[in-house]
Amino acid sequence: PVVTGMEVEEKPEVSYDQIGGLEEQVREVKETVELPLKKPELFEKIGIEPPKGVLLYGPPGTGKTLLAKAVAHETNATFIKIVASEFVRKYIGEGARLVRGVFELAKEKAPSIIFIDEIDAVAAKRLKSSTSGDREVQRTLMQLLAELDGFESRGNVGIVAATNRPDILDPALLRPGRFDRFIEVPLPNEDARREILKIHTSGMALAEEVDIELLSRITDGASGADLKAICTEAGMFAIREERDEVTMADFMDAVDKIMGVEKEEEYKQE
Ligand code: ATP
Repeated sequence: PVVTGMEVEEKPEVSYDQIGGLEEQVREVKETVELPLKKPELFEKIGIEPPKGVLLYGPPGTGKTLLAKAVAHETNATFIKIVASEFVRKYIGEGARLVRGVFELAKEKAPSIIFIDEIDAVAAKRLKSSTSGDREVQRTLMQLLAELDGFESRGNVGIVAATNRPDILDPALLRPGRFDRFIEVPLPNEDARREILKIHTSGMALAEEVDIELLSRITDGASGADLKAICTEAGMFAIREERDEVTMADFMDAVDKIMGVEKEEEYKQE
């Protein structure tokens, strides 16, 4: 069935070398998600249950989706992404059935990675007052927990969930045998920003004076997604002026534009 809010990709094209920074996170994801898919016999031999699911948490745009896609790529797995908040909004009364459907599809298409984005939308701590909407969210969560409990982690399906709000998650989700590893995906530091800028400028026609070092220094607070936006924006300035190279001035204008917008949004929220 065609389900919006779900995206299926056979072996995504993203590889680990397209991820800047996050070496430690890549290592952990390899060990917890990749290894059980690639070498289930290692776990059998030693006699332990492989981890079933990992939870990635951190600010938006830091590479959580990229990480999940890279694992799928590396394991030749089908990548199945669902956005929990969209499920709740679009399929009132059907959330639980859809969760079941997603797990069935994952088994059919195995090996596969189920990526559940914005999991907090269905897995926030139980609220005291319960409207019918809350009860629907509850039912979806219960089904998700049932699926997590029911499935054999050696069954060629890995689960990766992501959230910006780990603080509001229902502790039931975090019990052993469900999501048993938490991996923080933070904003990039200067070194990571340099790596990310290198990745996103690697195919660009850069003027000689473009100084990636300097750019990585002045973009404190930018996420990977912001850095990508800065590169695209700089390219747009060059195109608009019909130049065939992107200059440092283009990048500086792009930094102002992208970082400036963020500051304004923060200001509005206060
Ligand atoms: P959200 O929480 O908003 O879903 P996310 O953490 O899943 O965000 P991604 O979707 O992985 O973020 O990142 C968005 C885009 O930003 C990526 O497609 C990529 O182009 C760029 N990006 C983010 N982080 C990195 C990174 N560490 N290295 C390279 N590119 C990055």
